[in-house]
Amino acid sequence: MVLFDIYSFAIVGLYLWQKLVENDKVLPTKVLKLISVSPSAWQLTLGMTGNGSRNFKAGDFFFISFPKVKGLSKEAHPFSLTNAPIDSDRQLVFTIRKLGDFTKKTFFVESWRYGSCRRTVRPFSSIIDNKKEADLIFIGMGTGIAPLLSLSRQYQNQRRIKVVWTVKNLNEAYYDQIFEKMKSDSFEYHMQAGRIKAKQIDELFSEKELRSGLFFVVGPAFAIISLENSLKKHSVSKDRLIDERLTM
Ligand SMILES: Cc1cc2nc3c(=O)[nH]c(=O)nc-3n(C[C@H](O)[C@H](O)[C@H](O)COP(=O)(O)OP(=O)(O)OC[C@H]3O[C@@H](n4cnc5c(N)ncnc54)[C@H](O)[C@@H]3O)c2cc1C
Repeated sequence: MVLFDIYSFAIVGLYLWQKLVENDKVLPTKVLKLISVSPSAWQLTLGMTGNGSRNFKAGDFFFISFPKVKGLSKEAHPFSLTNAPIDSDRQLVFTIRKLGDFTKKTFFVESWRYGSCRRTVRPFSSIIDNKKEADLIFIGMGTGIAPLLSLSRQYQNQRRIKVVWTVKNLNEAYYDQIFEKMKSDSFEYHMQAGRIKAKQIDELFSEKELRSGLFFVVGPAFAIISLENSLKKHSVSKDRLIDERLTM
C-alpha cells in the first residue's frame, strides 16, 4: 500500500511537471490514422507537422491533447510510443485502450483532427544501454505491450529478448502476428489469455533469466505489484525490476 501511495504521488508529480516545465516543447501533430485494432483498443498514428524535436527514443511516452476538438477534455493524457525511431522519425504510433471520456467516445467520432503532444523521456532505453550484457525480459499486460513493442523493434538483433504478453481475451492480441514474425534464436515470444500465475514463472523464464535478466513490466498497477512480488520470490532482484504503471 505504501508503494502504491508513493507511485500515485510520483504520477501526480509527473502531470505537474509536464504542465509547468515541458510547456515549451509542444509538438504540433496531425492525426494520420485511427483504427480500432480490437474491441477495446485503438491504434493512433500521429504525424509531426512542424519542425519540433524528432529526437525521441523507443519506449518514451507523450502527453497527447486535441485542444480544438469540441466536447473533448483539453487535458493532455499520457500514452506510450508503440513504434520506434528506426521505423520513422516523423510518425508516432500509439496503442490506446478504450476506457473513459478521452479514449472512448469522442476519439471515435472526432478523429481526423490536429492535435499536439509533448514528449516525456522514459528511462527505459538508458537502463538497457547501461546494462549491455543482460537479457531483456519484456512483460506487457494489455495495452502495456505498447512501449515494449517499441523497445523490441529498437533492440531486436542487438540483444537477447523475451516478450511475454498477457491479454484478457485472445481477440485482444492485436500485435500477435507482429511478434510472431519477430521470433528468432535471440527473440522469444509468448502470448496468453489471463495473467501470469506464480506457478508459471519457472516455466516461462530460465534460471539464467531470473538470475541476471532485466525485467520490464508494464500494465495496471495492482497487477504489476502482484507479479513483481512473485518475481522477487524467484530471485529477481529489485534493481532488475523496472516497471511502468498505467493506472493509479
Ligand atoms: C506513463 C503512462 C503511460 C501510459 N501509456 C498508455 C498507453 O500506451 N496506452 C493506454 O491505453 N494507456 C496508457 N496510459 C493510461 C492512459 O493515460 C489512460 O488510460 C487515459 O489517460 C485514460 O483517459 P480516459 O479519460 O479515457 O479514462 P478515465 O476516465 O480517466 O479512466 C477510466 C478508468 O480506467 C483506469 N485505467 C486507465 N488506464 C488503464 C489501463 N491502461 N489499463 C487498465 N485500466 C486503466 C483508470 O484508473 C480509471 O479508473 C498510460 C499512463 C501513464 C501514466
